[in-house]
Amino acid sequence: MSTVKLSENNSITIPTEILKKLGLVPGVYLSVEELNGELVLRSIPPVAAAVANLAPTDAKSLKATISRKNLEVGIQFIKGIGPKLAAILGKKEIHTVEDALYLLPLRYEDRRQLSTISSLQAGQSAVFSGTVLSADAAKTKSGRSVFEVLLKDATGTIVCKWFHANAVWMKRTWKIGRVGVFSGEVSQFGYQREVHHPDVEWLPEGGDINSLLASDPANFGRIVPVYPLTEGIHQKAMRRIMREVVDGFLPNIDGVIPAELCPAEFPPLREALGQVHSPPSEALLADLNNGSTPAHRSLAFDEFFFWELGLALKKQGILQEDGIPFQVTHRYTKELVRLLPFELTAAQRRVLAEIKTDMMAPHPMHRLVQGDVGSGKTLVALMAALIAVENGYQVAIMAPTEILAEQHWHTIHRWCSLMGLEVVLLTAGLKGKAKKAALEQVADGTAQIVIGTHAVIQEKVEFSNLGLGVIDEQHRFGVLQRGILKKKGANPDILVMTATPIPRTLAMTLFGDLDLSVIDEMPPGRIPIETRIFFESRRTQLYDMIRDQVRLGRQVYVIYPLVEETEKTDLKAASQMAEHLQADIFPELRVGLLHGRLSPVEKEAVMASFTSREFDILVSTTVIEVGIDVPNATVMVIEHAERFGLSQLHQLRGRVGRGKDKSYCILMTTGKLSEDGEKRLRVMESTCDGFRIAEADLEIRGPGDFLGTRQAGMPDFRVANILRDGSLLEKARQAAFDLLESDHELNHPLHAPLHDELMRRWGKRLELATIG
Ligand code: ADP
Ligand code: MG
Repeated sequence: MSTVKLSENNSITIPTEILKKLGLVPGVYLSVEELNGELVLRSIPPVAAAVANLAPTDAKSLKATISRKNLEVGIQFIKGIGPKLAAILGKKEIHTVEDALYLLPLRYEDRRQLSTISSLQAGQSAVFSGTVLSADAAKTKSGRSVFEVLLKDATGTIVCKWFHANAVWMKRTWKIGRVGVFSGEVSQFGYQREVHHPDVEWLPEGGDINSLLASDPANFGRIVPVYPLTEGIHQKAMRRIMREVVDGFLPNIDGVIPAELCPAEFPPLREALGQVHSPPSEALLADLNNGSTPAHRSLAFDEFFFWELGLALKKQGILQEDGIPFQVTHRYTKELVRLLPFELTAAQRRVLAEIKTDMMAPHPMHRLVQGDVGSGKTLVALMAALIAVENGYQVAIMAPTEILAEQHWHTIHRWCSLMGLEVVLLTAGLKGKAKKAALEQVADGTAQIVIGTHAVIQEKVEFSNLGLGVIDEQHRFGVLQRGILKKKGANPDILVMTATPIPRTLAMTLFGDLDLSVIDEMPPGRIPIETRIFFESRRTQLYDMIRDQVRLGRQVYVIYPLVEETEKTDLKAASQMAEHLQADIFPELRVGLLHGRLSPVEKEAVMASFTSREFDILVSTTVIEVGIDVPNATVMVIEHAERFGLSQLHQLRGRVGRGKDKSYCILMTTGKLSEDGEKRLRVMESTCDGFRIAEADLEIRGPGDFLGTRQAGMPDFRVANILRDGSLLEKARQAAFDLLESDHELNHPLHAPLHDELMRRWGKRLELATIG
């Protein structure tokens, strides 16, 4: 490899003879590395020379690696891009050639046909050629300065206008007699048709239109891409840059997915990338604009494939680990079923059977149980826990909040104590002696089931023999916590539960390394919750309704949102509301208050009082959101409901309708609703089905925002769109799993390029470092 020092003016010059000797043609061949505080530019092609002497399979993989390397070339090395432009592009996260190649047009404009000037219609986006008849600065009637150009062709004339233009510069460009091709929106003012700020491509002097068109111009005579812009760069410049990148680097690109795994109707990666930037003239404009051309779909497939391949590999890894082959002795599970005042639903039984099969297998279970709010996941988790306990193993159950952990403890402790089992609660609030005692019980194995918050995975918590880890409300925890919990035992089984009913495609994307079970049935006898949107004007009516319900012996939640992003103001709003309700509205009723700043003991006390009906009304912040179970509560009032996300509203509503009485959810809101805000509330009004709500949520917010944050594990795809390309995701998943069928660890030499590309894209994200 020839090593070259970076010279002062940021460039290096290499004599042509040397380049020729090396077999180089113009293009970008450099990688930049830092070495001892200096930047070293290395040319890559000498490696290419070596390729010729290798065995064919090795050569193929090496070549692919080299071409990938080329994609990591900094964008500043592209012809016409200086440091300034590179900085501007950097703002759009375009740092390398690859970033640029995957910057897809926002939309496309059909500039295939030239129109005659006389045929131009208002409202039309048109391309036409013409000669400049006159060009000068003018004033509009309202006194705005404007630059006007009159253009003519054989059929007529048309006026073009620019506002805020530099007249001196414009006059220099728009010379009388100059001929060009123009493009823009035609509008009508009185009798006059005008085109504002048209794009132009000048004809060379003496040249004609046909020779211009034959030269394959970037801006005319074709379907033209329209790129997303950022301040400081114009569309035409962007097109020029993108063309430079596409023309210069596309030849280096070789798709690494074996052809037999790609759907036959899709063009290979290189052609697909070429076509999205420079659509063939027969492409369908509508398909281009909604990203559904074969080229777009090919790219989406490529993205999905690598993500799914990563997940599949992860899953293979788990399959190959040794786990605990539990035996189902029915000792405690049967007893619990006997103790329960109700029968398990068919869905609960089905999911339990799936869990049992997993637990009996000699490999660790990694299963996600999805079930709508109130579908009875806790019981399923408890049954699984009992299987582990029957086998002499410990179980850890992790919940996202203290209140929820405490509630799980209550439910589970109640049943387990009847069977003589030891259940320990471990939360951050636990202090001193009590904490020490709890930790000892966990460490010496006397605690058979350990329930808690994050406290469960703290470093100092040691289990004697953890056999099963249960994570409730998975979306509150990351993959990381799953990993830590796993390490608390020797490959324990893992069961994660989510009440966020994630649409199937999304669940597959996010948790593709988990097996999925769905509890798609509610316990019998639930009466649908009646949901209504109330504006401020109906507040009195709301209060009457609350009074009526309390008179019937029922209880009420009133929820306050985070008014501002600080707990303090949040608390203030809720506590003022509680005071106001108690003093001014319901002096005869008992109003309680729950918020995040109470200590765990205080929170517990408030919840216990509410459960035992010492309060009629519980005013709360969103700390109550997940899991709380008080069957006697029948009214859920959500103040400023428009400020909540759909899944949060659904979770909150799920706090009522848990008993045998009819329940109500009142969404209080002001008149000033945003479009999305109104949509959310209407969805809530129209359905209680968590899956339909989740689908609607995904539609309103888009996949990036769904589940609230990126930490939730959502991969950022550049082309693929989970909503639009859902069916492709399934294909890609199948292809990825098929591939691993024959090459479990992806270490066949032929698959080396695939392996490298996978690591390059997702290695870190999926923690695949140990594989291969
Ligand atoms: P979630 O899935 O939201 O965590 P829970 O596990 O809290 O739901 O269950 C909601 C309520 O339904 C609890 O009061 C629980 O005792 C009850 N429940 C669970 N399974 C059944 C069943 N098969 N029949 C009747 N009630 C049930
Ligand atoms: Mg629950």
